[in-house]
Amino acid sequence: MNPETVRALGLDAGSTATKLVGVDEKGALVWNVLLPTHPRMEEQARELLDRAYAAGVPKDVPLVATGYGRNLARGAKRSVTEITCHARGAFRRVGNGGTLVDIGGQDSKVIVIASDGKVERFAMNDKCAAGTGRFLEVAANRLQMTLERFSEVALTALKEVPISSTCTVFAESEMISLIANGEPVPHIVRGLHRSLAKRVAALVRGTSPVPPFLLSGGVAQSSAVRQLLGEELGKNMIVPESPQLMGAYGAALIALG
Ligand code: ADP
Repeated sequence: MNPETVRALGLDAGSTATKLVGVDEKGALVWNVLLPTHPRMEEQARELLDRAYAAGVPKDVPLVATGYGRNLARGAKRSVTEITCHARGAFRRVGNGGTLVDIGGQDSKVIVIASDGKVERFAMNDKCAAGTGRFLEVAANRLQMTLERFSEVALTALKEVPISSTCTVFAESEMISLIANGEPVPHIVRGLHRSLAKRVAALVRGTSPVPPFLLSGGVAQSSAVRQLLGEELGKNMIVPESPQLMGAYGAALIALG
């Protein structure tokens, strides 16, 4: 963390987490802060900026905002869609085209990036919690496991129980009845991860994806999701450093110009 060297800021006001990233003159990520999203996003954006300035980020650096609450960030030079920001961040990370799969708290998106960095096409699921971080959160909470533990349990399970419900709420009741029927919890946990991986893989296949495949968003931190999604797609998922910061990073690069 090197706040004094920040030359541009990117704010990603996501549905679940709000991220502020600072880049230096060369576009390297040198400072960041991440907080759970507060319902009063405008105030939160201001608080994060105050935090940045208090940490030593110069006050005159340009800011670009993205994400769900991007239009609420006062002081932003402009607001840019998440698709553009994610693509910009990913292109900078791999230095080439490919397919970015971003799994956030309440949506998942697939962005096909051309070899010149432009967005070729994209698909988004923001209508249904299944296939997003919320799906895993609900199930892990119900089983009183942290998300880290949830992933470990899925990876060490020797068997997998298919979860037939495609909706988060119904999958939760299906999970409870499977437990009541004596199904071992690890088999169910692996089945839940498989269900998410299958939903996201269907979204990916629908976009005529091109390799390499990158995975970003908060859910990219789950080793089980990385592995099972890779299995579903028949490709290794590349997870860049700080995957949850990809959108904010792209916004900061756009602000840098
Ligand atoms: P958004 O931009 O929509 O707010 P993020 O990309 O910030 O979303 O990701 C937030 C999601 O990431 C939340 O649903 C959270 O539960 C999930 N998440 C964070 N850490 C992990 C983890 N270790 N394993 C699985 N999911 C995680």
